[in-house]
Amino acid sequence: MLIVPEALIASLVSPEDAFAAVEATFAAMARGEAYNFPVVREALGGGRQYGFKSGLDRAGGQLGVKAGGYFPGNAEKGLINHQSSVFLFDPETGRPQAMVGGNLLTALRTAAASAVSIDRLARPEAKVLGIVGAGHQAGFQLRAAARVRRFERVIGWNLHPEMLPRLGAVAAELGLPFEAVDLPRMREADVIVTITSSPAASLMAAHVSPGTHLACMGTDTVGKQEVEPALLAGASVFADEVAQSVTIGEAQHAVGSGALAEAAITPIGQVLVGAHPGRRSAGEITLFDGTGVGLQDLAVAAVAVARARERGMGIEVRV
Ligand code: NAD
Repeated sequence: MLIVPEALIASLVSPEDAFAAVEATFAAMARGEAYNFPVVREALGGGRQYGFKSGLDRAGGQLGVKAGGYFPGNAEKGLINHQSSVFLFDPETGRPQAMVGGNLLTALRTAAASAVSIDRLARPEAKVLGIVGAGHQAGFQLRAAARVRRFERVIGWNLHPEMLPRLGAVAAELGLPFEAVDLPRMREADVIVTITSSPAASLMAAHVSPGTHLACMGTDTVGKQEVEPALLAGASVFADEVAQSVTIGEAQHAVGSGALAEAAITPIGQVLVGAHPGRRSAGEITLFDGTGVGLQDLAVAAVAVARARERGMGIEVRV
């Protein structure tokens, strides 16, 4: 078994690798070649969440699990709030193949999922990127979005405004002007990414203009919510996986309240394999409910392991 520690990941997996791996994963899911196992997610108290995301990709030859969660007190200890590790197994024998640090991989695969949705669903001429949220993931989201559209400026809102300058610094690195705005000014955005751990909707339907693409990435647990259910009711809704979207994703609220039918949600893989046209008009609001599936984790971890083996990196242990 190869151990690939967290510290090696940045040199092994690029955002471009993550984009390609996640896109291939969503397509494999749509073709029925890969599926996720039910998510286990437990509240540990004090806002801590812990759980397991796992799956099997027959085409890619990946079987495995990501174990980890969200520990909100970590930031004060100099650690990021998300902590996770990915374990890969031989799908034929069940033998352990690798243990891979999952923190950077989580950020890369989450930003890649959002970017895949922007690439496929946002209007080609999108110029203004809005970000709701300014935590650890937000900078990754901004960088990944900027790879798939030629944005001219970025606007940001966060419940804790003191966190926004860090996001502004990422925009500056990319050569994009950044402005902190109030939520109604999100109407200026062509693409909006939401990436908060909010328990209640911040972004309302009135804050979003026709033709906008939204990537709702923060809601990945029962009880979290970033946007008003009316937004989903008025949008063409896509998801990484419908089963997760309606249980732990943003759609849990819209479907739960009857504002949106589960059958109206399209897996984004259907767009990738050409079974769904995606955006149908310039005025349509498209919304991607990105809940984060285990197969995304396995796909990027497999890239890390393959690269580490090629380069003789990582720690080989007999198990
Ligand atoms: P973080 O702890 O670094 O940042 C949290 C963000 O949420 C900050 O912007 C903070 O200001 C905001 N926030 C906190 N409490 C809030 C509240 N009550 N109302 C509104 N905003 C609030 O977290 P992070 O690592 O940036 O992750 C952000 C969210 O994304 C989390 O909910 C996390 O679970 C989720 N996430 C989803 C995926 C996925 O695949 N969909 C992957 C990773 C993280």
